[in-house]
Amino acid sequence: MMKFNPILSNFPEYKPSSTIISSDLIDLSKNENPFDVSHEIKQIFYNKINQTSLNRYPELTSETIRQKIAEFLNDYFKSYKLNLNKNNIVVGNGSDELISYLVKIFDGEEVIVCPPTFEMYEFYSTLHNLKVKEVPLDQNFEIRNLDQKINEKARLIFICSPNNPTGNIQPEDEIIKILEKGFPVVIDEAYADFSKKSMIKYLEKYPNLIILRTFSKAFGLAGIRAGILIANQEIVNQIMKIKSPYSFNILSEKMVETIIENYEDVLKTIDYIIEERNALSKKLVGYALKSDSNFLLIDLSKKKGLTAEKAYNFFLENKIIVRKYTGVFENKIRVTVGTKEENQKFLDCFNSLLDKYY
Ligand code: PMP
Repeated sequence: MMKFNPILSNFPEYKPSSTIISSDLIDLSKNENPFDVSHEIKQIFYNKINQTSLNRYPELTSETIRQKIAEFLNDYFKSYKLNLNKNNIVVGNGSDELISYLVKIFDGEEVIVCPPTFEMYEFYSTLHNLKVKEVPLDQNFEIRNLDQKINEKARLIFICSPNNPTGNIQPEDEIIKILEKGFPVVIDEAYADFSKKSMIKYLEKYPNLIILRTFSKAFGLAGIRAGILIANQEIVNQIMKIKSPYSFNILSEKMVETIIENYEDVLKTIDYIIEERNALSKKLVGYALKSDSNFLLIDLSKKKGLTAEKAYNFFLENKIIVRKYTGVFENKIRVTVGTKEENQKFLDCFNSLLDKYY
């Protein structure tokens, strides 16, 4: 008889993505970059692929690309004078894959997460039968005094900064207090290119610090599925023991290689998005929370009778997809910063929505 893991009965099924159903929708729900990489970049990528044997497996432990990423990070964070090499880097099929390994390699009873935050920390922990301890963010969505709530049971601590879905960065002094306790601390910096702040400078000082970054957001490569983990060699070695062989495929490898050899355009896109985010925030004063990322969390609770569900449906009727929430966040929506034109359409639609609930 066929029996499924009972844990799965609590997991919802994935639904087909709305962007596939209709291409005239403006999708502002996934915190993607609104700009695809340029034709010039794609051409360099095609040339690399033309010189690559696709009948061969990629390198077993992705040594070459890991070294290139280490050197890229040393350059990207020049002012921190990092001294990274391939032994500090793991590449994954998105940072999601790396999260799935992180929950497995340490010992200890409880995985600490700080809701509201990125769901995948809890998802992979639960999938591996681990106990998740929730220490909610404070009223400013910060991790104030989290260090006092961590005890010997801690296995690892996930901190998302800037945090998804609230958009704010976490205070550096609070993160340091947690690092001082010595437990493994993951700082998920998926959106840190938009805050221009990183904890990566503390890697040498704190061997328990693990940084996650991704090429999916600022680097505009969500479709390529490339995430990176940066940590000390001991942690990297443990992950390499359990990592699926060849999970980082040759196409991802060549595209990442291309983008890190040509990232001037990426820097321009980051500045464009930051500028648009700030402009959008100004127009949404009283509704949008302060954001250090490429999305805004919008609180609708001021408008009596307006729920996230109603707002979501209104935007959808106007061909815009936003992210809605349920539970404690049922009166909030999250919107990704798009192109200038997309943001204007969003604003026009938001103003029409407000007019309905004066
Ligand atoms: N961390 C955070 C905070 C995210 O929001 C996301 C993507 N939504 C990820 C990690 C995963 O990114 P990737 O595309 O690299 O799997």
